[in-house]
Order: sequence, then C-alpha cells, then structure tokens
Amino acid sequence: MLAALLLAAAPLQAAQTLPPPEKAPPVANPAPASPPAAPAAAPRTPPKLIVAVSVDQFSADLFAQYRRTFTGGLARLLAGAVFPAGYQGHAATETCPGHSTILTGYRPARTGIVANTWIDQGAARADKQVYCAEDESAPGSTHENYVASDKHLLVPTLGERMKAADPRTRVVSVAGKDRAAIMMGGHKVDELWWWNGKAIVSYPGRTTPPVVARAQKAVADLLAQPQPALDLPPQCRAVDREIRVGELSLGRGRFERAAGDARAFRASPALDAAVLSLAAGLVQDMKLGRQAQTDMLSVGVSATDYVGHAFGTQGTEMCIQLAQLDEALGGFLDVLDATGVDYQLMLTADHGAHDVTERQRQRAMPMEAHIDPQVQAKAVGAAIGRDLGLTGPVLLGSEGDIYLDRTLPAAQRPRVLAEARRRYAAQSQVALAMTGAEVAAVPMPTTPPETWTLAERARASYSPGRSGDLIVLLRPRVTTIEVPGPGYVETHGSPWDYDRRVPILFWRRGQPGFEQPLSVETVDIVPTLAATIGLTVPGVDGRCLDLDPGPADTCAGPERR
Ligand SMILES: [Zn+2]
Repeated sequence: MLAALLLAAAPLQAAQTLPPPEKAPPVANPAPASPPAAPAAAPRTPPKLIVAVSVDQFSADLFAQYRRTFTGGLARLLAGAVFPAGYQGHAATETCPGHSTILTGYRPARTGIVANTWIDQGAARADKQVYCAEDESAPGSTHENYVASDKHLLVPTLGERMKAADPRTRVVSVAGKDRAAIMMGGHKVDELWWWNGKAIVSYPGRTTPPVVARAQKAVADLLAQPQPALDLPPQCRAVDREIRVGELSLGRGRFERAAGDARAFRASPALDAAVLSLAAGLVQDMKLGRQAQTDMLSVGVSATDYVGHAFGTQGTEMCIQLAQLDEALGGFLDVLDATGVDYQLMLTADHGAHDVTERQRQRAMPMEAHIDPQVQAKAVGAAIGRDLGLTGPVLLGSEGDIYLDRTLPAAQRPRVLAEARRRYAAQSQVALAMTGAEVAAVPMPTTPPETWTLAERARASYSPGRSGDLIVLLRPRVTTIEVPGPGYVETHGSPWDYDRRVPILFWRRGQPGFEQPLSVETVDIVPTLAATIGLTVPGVDGRCLDLDPGPADTCAGPERR
C-alpha cells in the first residue's frame, strides 16, 4: 500500500527521466595530489540538499526498543552518526515547542513557542486560548479552527538563514500537522503543505503545483478505500496482547478501517506514506538539490504521535506503525537516491512519550496515575476564590502554565499568586510550582540536559508574555489525561526524560558511522547542519556536533578543513 502511494504521487516516469546521478563527492575519489585521506572521512563538499525529518513522538525509548528490527530507511540512518540520547531539554514537551527547536537552534524560551496552546488574555475571544501556529487576529480564527500562521515563531529557521545567505535556496516543508510544517519551515517558504485532517492543504491563496494536486488526489483515493488489517510483522508478536482502557480494547490493532474514515487514516501508517510521497514528489518536481545552491526540505511525519495517543506505545499498533514508517522512509530515500543528489539527512523527534497508564499499571509499574481534577486550574482557582471572598474567575490555563485572571484587582494579585503557588505545591501530584518571575530569574542551563533541575527545564520553556504567571510541573508518570477516550489514551508534555529524550540521527553518503552515547540537544541540530554548508549561526542555544569520528572536524568550517 505504501509503495503504491509513493509511486502514485512521485511517478516513476519522473525518476526515470532524471539525469544520471552526479559524481560522488570529491572525498570519495581524492585527487592523486592530495594527501592520502582517511578512508572513512566525512565528505568535505557542502551537501546539495538538507533533508530534516521529524517523527512525532518518536521517543528515545521507542528507538531503543525497535532499532534492531529496522531494515528500511531507519536502518540506513543507524549506519550514520547516531546520537541515541538526544534531548528536547525543556519542560513543556509538546509538539509545537518541540518542532520549534529542531530547525531553529533555539529552545522554546527564545522561539516563543511555549506550548501548543497558551492563554492570551488580550485575545478577542471568549476562551482566551491561542494556538501556536495561528493568526488570532484573522477574522473567524479560533484556537481550534484557526487561520494557520507562522507569526508566533520569534526566530528564523535554518531554511530562512540559508535563503538570507543565498536567495536561490528553495525551502520546502511538508508534514502531517500544520504546526510541524510551519515550525520547521519558518517564515520564508517556497512550498509548505500539511494534512489538515481531511486533505493536504497550505496557507490560503497559495498556488497548488501539479505534483501537490497529484498527491492530493492519490491520498483522497486511498482514504476513500477501506483498509484491510495490515500484516503483523514477526517482531510484533511479543506485544500482541489486549489491554482494556474503559470501554476500549487496545493492543492488538492492525489499522483496519472503513472507507472514508479520516480519523482512523490519520492515526495510521497511511498518513506518513502520504506525507513522504508528497515530499518525494516535490523533490523530483522542483529538482531540489540540482542547482548551484543547497536547498532545504523538512518533513514532519506525524502518525507515530496519533498512534501513540490512540493506542499507547506497547501494542501491535505502535509496532506495526514503526515497521511501516521504516519501510516508507526507505522508499522515500530510494527516490532521493534516484535523483543522484548529494543530500545530508537528519532525523529526530519533537518529544517522547510513555505508555498508557492502564497497561503500565497492569505491569505493576509504580506511581502510574491520571491527573486529579483537584490539580486543575479551575478547581484550585475556585477554592482560592471561595476562601478569599473573590467573585469571578481566578485562575486560567491547564497543564504547565497557569494564569491569574486579568479581571482580578491589582491589589489582590500578589496574594492570589502566593496562595495558588502554596496550594499547588501542597498537592501530592505536583513536583514543582514556581511563579513566572521565579522561573525567569533562573539562569538558562548550560550543563548537559540530563543534569538540569526541574526549574532549569521550566526556564528553557519560559517566554515572558506567553508563559503562565505560575508554572506547575506534575510528578513523574502522572498523565494529564483525566479520563481516557477514543483516540486519546496516552499523552506527553511532562518535564520527565521519557518525554524529553529523542534520537538524533545524521546520514550522508560517504559519511562514516559512529555512535555517541552522551547526551546532546535538538538545538544542536541547526549549528551541525549549518556547518556542513559553511554557514555560521551565531547566538543559537545549541552547539555544533562533529559528524566525523576521525580527526576531520565537520564543525571546523571550510577554511580549517
Ligand atoms: Zn502528541
């Protein structure tokens, strides 16, 4: 099914008519006059195309659990530079903040993307909730049914920097979610497309290139067909066990779905195949990497996240999803290979996750709990209002960021804030409660991310004006899901390592492989990729990772190589 979709959107004819592959990078065939190069040194010429892939919710734990089973695109990445202990170091491990770090080199404190949704009490809407990738000033936009926009992203992406250095650079971003495509693409994109739940779309008013129209039709046709159950790969037999979560039966699913069921389509490998086929088609159609400059392509494959939310991480559903993703990535890389372009590939994730509470409890894992409704802002705010004799709302927000209602009289605010902090800190499910001012005063961490205190993790997520007046972090293994339901039994967003740790993988033809077990950060990705094309990115939060295991230093800059 996946191969068929890939070929439908990126027709073989196109690949077959492309010019023959270019010559290998010089390092593979050193000129006789050059000093003898180490046989396995990193290529020294800039790659012609940078391809950054984000696998939504692909935790370091999933990577560790399944890496020995990969045979497709992920197996190829395992032969490159492997950083199994990558970190989205910040506290608010959600999709939008995570994607905002990957191709900017900045933590959410500086990207401004502090959460998927935050409270802006100045917003002209009743619920005051603002979505990270919307233009809330656009007529009719709501946080749930929004007008997509890049305006909340406060820093440039790598593609924008490349375009600034060389305006010929093409920047292309596609994803299964708008926030993934927008946060990785940035403000100056040549093509930006995402799956909106029903179709592949872009910003209003953008022209649809023929290759996108072909992909739209291929995906619509696929969605219109019923999907029989997928085969169970041998490695998935060990996790083929039912778990009951309320009325739901999970753990043995194989992505069978009725014709036209867009919700089931989204939480299935077919979504990733659709996005990868679109990306492959755009590479071919735009001839990315075939001009003098280096081009930039980012791809957000989102189905792993939808599968995790709907089924958890330890059933057949996630096992099949990762096997299918591995295969689809392999097909995508085959298309890239067929173009002959020298590309630098990077794959990581926006955040991790941990499994469904009910399955963990069944395995007697300690501390597994759903959030107590008494920890929610509404309950805490109501209790404070009662005790202090306040009328009207007191606290807004949910999860990490809690806001004092702006109608509270100025004289009351310090007392309410102190009272809220005290009450949160006294809750058994709460690990940290600090005022925004206290978090802002914490120096930005500079040590390896596994050593950060909770306050430092919160600091990396804190942006004044968007973050809460109070920052509340829950204890480990407490899920913010009060009551699980269809499509939503597991989530992430915590400051704990199961949500922070993600793999970071680099691969380029001719690049020798190695593994670095020590921790690195996703903000290191931009300086690392920028160095391969001789671009400097002063001031970012990350640092360049040397992609050569030998004496050559890919961070040293062209003049020092
Ligand atoms: Zn998610």
